[in-house]
Amino acid sequence: MRKKIVAGNWKMNTDLNQALDLAREIRLSNYDKSATLIIIPPFPFLYSIVEATNNSVIQVGAQNCSKNKNGAFTGEVSAEMLNSVGVKYVIVGHSERRTYFKETNQELAEKIKECLSNKLIPIYCCGELLEDRTNENHFEVVKTQLSEALFHLSPDQMKGIIIAYEPVWAIGTGVTASPEQAQEMHQYIRQFIAKKFGDTIANSISILYGGSCNAANAKELFALPDVDGGLIGGASLKAVDFVAISNSF
Ligand code: PEP
Repeated sequence: MRKKIVAGNWKMNTDLNQALDLAREIRLSNYDKSATLIIIPPFPFLYSIVEATNNSVIQVGAQNCSKNKNGAFTGEVSAEMLNSVGVKYVIVGHSERRTYFKETNQELAEKIKECLSNKLIPIYCCGELLEDRTNENHFEVVKTQLSEALFHLSPDQMKGIIIAYEPVWAIGTGVTASPEQAQEMHQYIRQFIAKKFGDTIANSISILYGGSCNAANAKELFALPDVDGGLIGGASLKAVDFVAISNSF
């Protein structure tokens, strides 16, 4: 049985008090205890949020990490640091980082290595631009994102990865991939992983959908055979919406 996962990427939103209020409200809500709930606040609030969610099933993730171990990299945050404050997951390769910070698949491969060396589970994001889909190049783009960042891993390492398929044209736009588009790509990703790592590993990996997923459309998306949950942006900033999404399996 694959893990059902709902992860909330708060991006560069909230101040400390708002972050704590949001985490506490989620914690006190009636969320699906059989799903893995991950909240992903900005760096400065991670330790406080880990404390605020202690002794609950809510897990805490970070939005990024450095590809370097430590040293003279002003402004960077290492995987080891994240592990030391109780973080368990890291988003790697979000489209906003690929676009604004020019992160390449090769750098993302290094970040994934750092995460795994520090017992952090990467949530690896892939997904095509609108023009890729218009040009019917979307499978090729996702294939390259997967092979260049993940296919150096051992089967054992690959088992521990979460993948998020996030078509860039759906992120923050209110335009969600149709169930057919989502299922088609999730199935493609699983089959591509199976070719390299075998069916057992491919069938054990959770593939999340991200891109304008909300309380109104989560049920339909999560019911798809190859969709194992969601990476949620905007709708994760309201406890009531995030919890409703977690109750959509
Ligand atoms: C995201 O940024 O990962 C995301 C899915 O955003 P939204 O849900 O707002 O589209």
